[in-house]
This record gives sequence, C-alpha cells and structure tokens, in this order.
Amino acid sequence: MARTVLVTGGNRGIGYGIAQAFAKQGDRVAVLHRGGTAPEGIEGVLGVKGDVTDTASVDAAFTEVEEKLGPVEVVVANAGINRDTLLLRMSDEQWDEVHNTNLKGAFRVARRASSKMLRARWGRIIFIASASGLAGNAGQVNYTAAKAGLVGMARSITRELGSRNITANVVSPGFTHSEMAHATPQKVLDEAIKQIPAGRFAEPEEIASVVTFLASDAAAMVSGNVITVDGGMTMGH
Ligand code: NDP
Repeated sequence: MARTVLVTGGNRGIGYGIAQAFAKQGDRVAVLHRGGTAPEGIEGVLGVKGDVTDTASVDAAFTEVEEKLGPVEVVVANAGINRDTLLLRMSDEQWDEVHNTNLKGAFRVARRASSKMLRARWGRIIFIASASGLAGNAGQVNYTAAKAGLVGMARSITRELGSRNITANVVSPGFTHSEMAHATPQKVLDEAIKQIPAGRFAEPEEIASVVTFLASDAAAMVSGNVITVDGGMTMGH
C-alpha cells in the first residue's frame, strides 16, 4: 500500500537515499529542506521548503505536503548538522544550533506529524541518530547529546501513541558516505575505519533499507528501538 512519506533533509546524503528508496517502492514522497527544490535524479518526489529550526516553517511545509500528497503517514526526521569542537571550546551557540536542528527539529517534525497520524490511527516516526550518540565521541558533546536525546523521545512517543498503531524508532548510522562524513578530517576517517568490523563506511541506501523496513506493515511490533547500521562498530551500545 502506497503511503505519504516526508523525509527532512532529503535533498542530499542519507536523506536522499531514504527518499529514493521510498520512491522506488511506489510511495508518495516529499523532502523538506531549506532550499525547497526537488532532489535531482528521483522521479516524482516533491521538494518543499522548510527549516526544522522554525515551528511555523515546519507547519507550512506539512500543510503543503498534505495539500499535494495527503496526510503524512511516515515521517523521517533526518535533517542534521554538526558543529564539532572540544568541550572546553564549545560555545553556547554551537550547542544551541546543533540541538535546535538535531533534537528540537526532530521534536517539531514528530509533533506536527502526530496529530494526523492519531486521526488515521496509523503512523511511523523514524529518527536518524548516530553511532556517536550511543558510543560518545570526543569533539561532539553537543551532537552526541542531541542524538542520544532522540532515543528517549522515540521511547516516550512509543508509550504515548503506541496503542494507535503508531511506532517511533531510531536508526543509528555509523560513518556513511555523504557531505557530512566527507567534511570530517581524513585523519579521523582513517582512525574510524579501523573501528568498523565491516571495514568500510555505509552507503546511504544501506541506511534507507532499514528505514523502509521500519515504515512497513511488517514492522508494526517494532517500536522504541534503536537499530544500529554501522558495520558492527557499536553493536547496539
Ligand atoms: P548532509 O550534511 O549530507 O545533509 C544534511 C541534510 O540536512 C541536508 O539535506 C540539509 O538540507 C538538511 N538540514 C540541515 N539543517 C536543516 C534545517 N535547519 N532545516 C531543514 N533541513 C536541514 O548529512 P548526512 O546525509 O550525512 O546526514 C543525515 C543525517 O544522518 C543527519 O542527522 C546526521 O547527523 C546523521 N548521520 C550521518 C552520518 C554520516 O556519517 N554521514 C553518521 C551518523 C549519523 P540543506 O540542503 O537545506 O542544508
């Protein structure tokens, strides 16, 4: 059954891979990002302008998707940023910016999606976290705290909405080929790869296949979970 899917940050990187996977299986897909353009190379995907740090902008983007594709049944909160530096040097602004996008942004999106999901008595909320949010990472106090927060949010949503066929889960990628990963210093990437039993970084499609499973009817009993997709780097820890 085709669903209406909204992926935040779906114009590039992991979000692009996720949007592509849903489109390939015949869903109605919209991607929300600050530029608002449809992602190139994927047929029939709607681009909507939106900034997850702004509640009114998220609301307007959802309204546009509802008008054009129908109520959002699957939402993937993928938009994320990093502002890495060591704890001692981290400014309030660097903390706030990351939390406002990665944690509060996901909250804004889940909250806006939930009213229509409740009405439909069906919904899938999927947060894209990070292996470093589970294992910790020097230089990422702001980022890892925000990503770890998504786990608590998914579990509380599961307890609030679970009886209405709404699930909330976290997908936790390890290093995955994207602009974000490629902006990481080569020395850090060389060290990181040694910690990955699979011996390589993931491709966005490999994150996407877990996301589409969680969005499916087959995953109806999977909720409040964290699924790591990191080649064995964190093994759930
Ligand atoms: P990219 O930097 O390639 O893409 C980030 C996406 O988020 C872009 O589409 C960007 O849109 C969007 N975005 C950022 N801020 C906002 C905002 N305020 N409002 C709307 N959209 C926004 O990152 P990745 O694809 O690598 O990362 C995707 C997710 O996966 C992130 O949450 C990241 O933390 C997580 N992750 C990534 C890993 C990796 O190795 N790549 C590892 C673990 C987790 P715009 O074009 O408008 O900037």
